[in-house]
Amino acid sequence: MTEKADLKNCDRCGREFPTEDLIEEGGAQICENCYINAHQKIKVCDPWAVRSKKILREKAGQVGTDGLTDVQKEIYEFIISKGGATREQIADQFTLPPEELENEFAILRHCELVKGQKRDDGVYIVAFED
Ligand SMILES: [Zn+2]
Repeated sequence: MTEKADLKNCDRCGREFPTEDLIEEGGAQICENCYINAHQKIKVCDPWAVRSKKILREKAGQVGTDGLTDVQKEIYEFIISKGGATREQIADQFTLPPEELENEFAILRHCELVKGQKRDDGVYIVAFED
């Protein structure tokens, strides 16, 4: 038995794992579970992101939310209609668990539809083009 009690916390979820089980990702060491979660988001979004960029370029003024889920569209439209919204405002508007909301933000961010913007009274999520 080679017992190497070499444990390290996952940088994302904070749980403890044997160091050799952690995966290097953008300078962070994350567990397999977090790694899969992160990559699922990217898979969900990528085909749409590529297509939407083309659509956006070809048809200026027409925002292609095509390919997003209804919830993602609603969140995006809410952000646009408000000219930017805080996480709290969005959480109030949509009855989603915080982790799901974070997941939707991640997808919208990854699609370059929204971005974070620091204002005097907090961090807002705004349209990417703003
Ligand atoms: Zn983790």
